Amino acid sequence: MSSCCTSSPAKKDTGTQQQMDCPHCGKLAKPVQLITLLHHVVAPLNQQLPCDEYFFCANISCGIVYFSKTGTVFDHTKVRKNTNKGLSDTSITLCYCFDVTQARVLEEIGQTGESASKAFVVEQTKLKNCACDVRNPSGRCCLKDFPK
Ligand SMILES: [Zn+2]
Repeated sequence: MSSCCTSSPAKKDTGTQQQMDCPHCGKLAKPVQLITLLHHVVAPLNQQLPCDEYFFCANISCGIVYFSKTGTVFDHTKVRKNTNKGLSDTSITLCYCFDVTQARVLEEIGQTGESASKAFVVEQTKLKNCACDVRNPSGRCCLKDFPK
């Protein structure tokens, strides 16, 4: 079976695509690749994803995870795992590739002034051992989400 989605060229850089307001919370959501939805949306919904442009709502107090340009919506009940929805700021996962939470990073910074977990993630990212496009529900690199 072929579709316009599978035949479209693999485009890594989604940073230049336009963003869209979440239909539920109104916050600006960033574009996300179809491959990210394939790995996060529950079966069998992930087997019949409408060919569309998708966006990820990163607002943890909003129940919507993914939505499309033409109105397809996947809320947190249609997504397989933790997407930080409904969690408090400190319990959120920062790095899905290596399972690093915000609480862990803040604890490290509190103890030593810097985060060893962040250093590890930076190192692994340089080695290209991360898998943000499939692990992270946002489909993006997590490093910018770490506390400074
Ligand atoms: Zn939202």
